[in-house]
Amino acid sequence: MYILNVSILTQKTISERISYSGIGIHTGEKVNMNILPASPNTGIVFKRIDIKENNLIYPLYHNVVDTTLCTTVANDFGIKVSTIEHLMGAFYGIGIDNAIVELDSQEAPIMDGSAKVFYESISKAGVKFSDQPIKIIKINKEVKLKYNDKFISINKSNITSDIEFEIKYKNNVIKNQKNKINIFEDDLKVIFNSRTFCLYEDIEKLKKLNLGKGGNLDNAIVIKDNKILNESGLRNNLEFVNHKILDCMGDLFLSGYKIIGSLKCSQGGHRLTHELLKELFKDQNNYSLIEIKGKQLPHIFTNYQNLKSIA
Ligand SMILES: [Zn+2]
Repeated sequence: MYILNVSILTQKTISERISYSGIGIHTGEKVNMNILPASPNTGIVFKRIDIKENNLIYPLYHNVVDTTLCTTVANDFGIKVSTIEHLMGAFYGIGIDNAIVELDSQEAPIMDGSAKVFYESISKAGVKFSDQPIKIIKINKEVKLKYNDKFISINKSNITSDIEFEIKYKNNVIKNQKNKINIFEDDLKVIFNSRTFCLYEDIEKLKKLNLGKGGNLDNAIVIKDNKILNESGLRNNLEFVNHKILDCMGDLFLSGYKIIGSLKCSQGGHRLTHELLKELFKDQNNYSLIEIKGKQLPHIFTNYQNLKSIA
């Protein structure tokens, strides 16, 4: 146990290369993706291996170029990678600090619409600990944004990192759902397993936007009036809001670090989380970037639940 707790203070990567094949939910294109171990202080780096030059893209908030139904980042040469939020959510929740993600197409594979496959494959491959300390962002001052009925805020917290999320739908299956998670304490399996969802009547709108071309009942929950069209139904009672929490975790990791703070969101999504990060980093008084050393570490910051399921 002692060794485990000490190791949590240091940066982590995956133990071995992991490969995936799938399709992009929006482009409908086939894609192969590999996650490779990376040395400390690399961060998460996407590499478009279908392009020979200028093919590295850093998933950071200032590289976001689109937040329509997914998060898209690009480098200075206009090379993009999209729908990165579920993989980024898995990295954030598990505590992977460094990895190279190779893709041979623009969009990350949607797999089953959740982060289940990413979580399970990383757990199976295992996590490799380095001797380099992790850095975290600590919130010093509340930052909040409101757009009509949507709301997001992040406030300081002594030791925890929590997300409280609420959705309000007119649809009778989704209705109002609310959940709160503590990223470092809770078993996040239920969050990783929660799939993306879509109202049947919105499918036509998606097609007009040239989006959702790879979407089907194997990678999204589809709700038509009072009915879930997927034969196996839901994976958990709060699957809709839990998926929004997964998206939020993934989008928060575009800060580049773990965040110690308390986030609240009502009716938000990729755009709102992105706007929050922009607002947060506008003023250096809002946050501190700190390096975690052994003695500073609160007991609660051990991510024990997540690591336990990986070990
Ligand atoms: Zn999502």
